[in-house]
Amino acid sequence: MINLQSQPHRRLNLLTGEWVLVSPHRTQRPWQGQVEALPSQGLVQHDPKCYLCPGSERAGGKRNPEYKSTFVFDNDFAALLPDTPVGLGGGNPLLRVETQAGICRVICFSPRHDLTLADMETSAIRGVVDTWVEQWNDLNAREQIRYVQIFENRGEMMGSSNPHPHGQIWSISSLPNEILKEDRSQREHRQAKSATLLSDYIAAELDAGERIVCQNGSFVCMVPFWAIWPFETMVISRRPVETLDELSDEERTDLAGILKSITSRYNKLFQVAFPYSMGFHQRPKGIDKNHWHFHAHFYPPLLRSATVRKFMVGFELLAMPQRDITPELAADRLRQMPE
Ligand SMILES: [Zn+2]
Ligand SMILES: [Zn+2]
Repeated sequence: MINLQSQPHRRLNLLTGEWVLVSPHRTQRPWQGQVEALPSQGLVQHDPKCYLCPGSERAGGKRNPEYKSTFVFDNDFAALLPDTPVGLGGGNPLLRVETQAGICRVICFSPRHDLTLADMETSAIRGVVDTWVEQWNDLNAREQIRYVQIFENRGEMMGSSNPHPHGQIWSISSLPNEILKEDRSQREHRQAKSATLLSDYIAAELDAGERIVCQNGSFVCMVPFWAIWPFETMVISRRPVETLDELSDEERTDLAGILKSITSRYNKLFQVAFPYSMGFHQRPKGIDKNHWHFHAHFYPPLLRSATVRKFMVGFELLAMPQRDITPELAADRLRQMPE
């Protein structure tokens, strides 16, 4: 048997088919790397200079309404444009190129400038879930759209300069890389087995117990066995629903509840509004049914304090990702945090 807490080893990510190197013996090494500035604290409830606050003027002169719950608008600096015509690169086949069409939107989670998801009432987060479902339905129904990515970039460390609680929804006319990898793995598993890959995986995690962070009637949150980021987590639905809109009323509320639980634990871990990128993965349009299983990924960059982050450099960029603290220890730290 391998001692996962002391021997260097690699673990397979079932969803992507890629390996991660784990070096648990290195966790005692002294840190001499970059130390980040603490994110600004002590925010006001309404900041007239914030372009996401109710009533503010945005780029191009548009003005936000005095919204009371969630508010969605088309991104003023969108990475994709809806009216891009379909085009393939001609000429050299080694220089392959295709045009991409899409729609990018911003969703404000709350009119309050100073909150994070963790600070919001579960009923208000449920309102965010309902807005995500509406947006998913609207964008997914459009002929040019193949895939809708709902995500949140939180914190200055993740490149999100505005602390106002908000997320993004990018919809695109092709299937992105991560979705293609996860589609193949989930399809292969389902063809060989009687359940989805993630149904079998959460059963194994619930059986082992050591990587579970929190759970409720509809969702389980764990540090995945193959996590790359120190405090990476996944939220997986107990029922193998394929898309957000298949969630029942109760499951939507439970999704709000588990998002509050994990983000609250994150904020308490280093006593700071925890930075992360999070987002949902679900069955894309045009993909056959039965193998996709709805889930969320949280990718936080922090390593050992509010000011020390993990970098993906060197061996990780050139060969494979690597981590020191084991997923089991990370799950234990998060589990001990109060909700
Ligand atoms: Zn604001
Ligand atoms: Zn995924």
